[in-house]
Amino acid sequence: MSVQWVLLAAVLMVHGLITAMWWAAGSRLGLARRPASHWAVAAAANGLALSLLPLSQVLPLSSAVVWAQVCVVLGIVCTRRGLQAFLRLRHTDGSHLLMVGGLACVNLLLCGPLGWQSAGEALSSALVALVLWRTAWENHQPLAFEFNDALSRLHSSVLGAAGAVFMAGALVQAVPPLQQGWQSLHPEQRTFLLVFAHLVLSIATSFLLGYMVVMRLVNKLEHLSHHDSLTGLLNRRAIEYLLDREIQRLQRFGEGFSVLIVDIDHFKRINDRLGHAAGDVVLCAVAKALQVQAREVDRVARFGGEEFCVILPHTLHEGALQAAERLRDAIRALSIEWQDEVISVTVSTGVATAHTADDALDDLLQRADEALYRAKEEGRNRVVAARPRLVA
Ligand code: GH3
Ligand code: MG
Ligand code: MG
Repeated sequence: MSVQWVLLAAVLMVHGLITAMWWAAGSRLGLARRPASHWAVAAAANGLALSLLPLSQVLPLSSAVVWAQVCVVLGIVCTRRGLQAFLRLRHTDGSHLLMVGGLACVNLLLCGPLGWQSAGEALSSALVALVLWRTAWENHQPLAFEFNDALSRLHSSVLGAAGAVFMAGALVQAVPPLQQGWQSLHPEQRTFLLVFAHLVLSIATSFLLGYMVVMRLVNKLEHLSHHDSLTGLLNRRAIEYLLDREIQRLQRFGEGFSVLIVDIDHFKRINDRLGHAAGDVVLCAVAKALQVQAREVDRVARFGGEEFCVILPHTLHEGALQAAERLRDAIRALSIEWQDEVISVTVSTGVATAHTADDALDDLLQRADEALYRAKEEGRNRVVAARPRLVA
């Protein structure tokens, strides 16, 4: 079997798999639908382009190389459009249409019939290189912002290197001594080098894009598992983990901290009188007020129902009472608009402080809960400190 057929089989297998992967990700798994459909088309276009090169060696396909160039440009434009959709950047449809349409016309109507094959190849390769570099440039900041610097740099390196390979290809076609050197190679060797370089770039780009899609999914799942869907605050699981860490810090470095359990007074009445939707609006307003009033280092979570938990690191008894009063005042001052009504709420708060190495988490939460219970019993809309821990 000749090298051309082996190359053809490798191209079809790799690009078939990449196309199927993006099709399945977008339409079956619902992952990044629009970008995935663009990347599936890009992989199919690249596969077609690379299949035409070995095929032109064994079959009488006169304009195969010209069509291959149009497909490569279509592939890179689809990759860029997919990235623009993925990163929610402005679509540059006008320039893409101009690029693909213009290049198809120049290659098919001018370079093909007039035999200016090298000029057509140089033009297509230079255009692809410029699009790749432009894409690397425009995605650098959005990727660093959403993911991290390392991924952004990896993306710029892969696209930058791909651009360099295409620009080298353009120079080989445009500079006579380089072109002579290239032409001195056997046609099979030239096809092999071209297809091999394209295959490596296709695999590297697809790996990178796939990694970005999976990273976004992981970040989203992580956010969902740590946050309350109604208020956007941390949820119970997340705050319990943070409380655990505060206890560890207390045991290791002796840094005390306090916990507030904040409960909305007579919240059920709001639900009963105005409906569950009004109750939800009140929960969000209280959550926002707690978040705004808390210090940057404090952690606010929805503990469940209409109950919130605030961790105050580095804060002992007096400081915690002051903070709890400040939060209570802020919530009492809220005027929450619901349809034609203005709703006001108050909260009761239990405060407990951990300051010795043998303070345990369960005991701390229980003491804060008991203090909250007393605040309710004493008439609500107040802050009550937990009783000191009984030491055996
Ligand atoms: P108290 O002053 O003693 O705390 O009385 P309360 O009415 O605030 O407390 P109770 O425990 O009797 O009622 C809490 C209500 O909170 C009951 C439940 O239906 C409601 N609730 C829990 N989660 C949600 C939610 O996500 N949205 C809404 N709208 N209501 C919720
Ligand atoms: Mg309540
Ligand atoms: Mg409650």
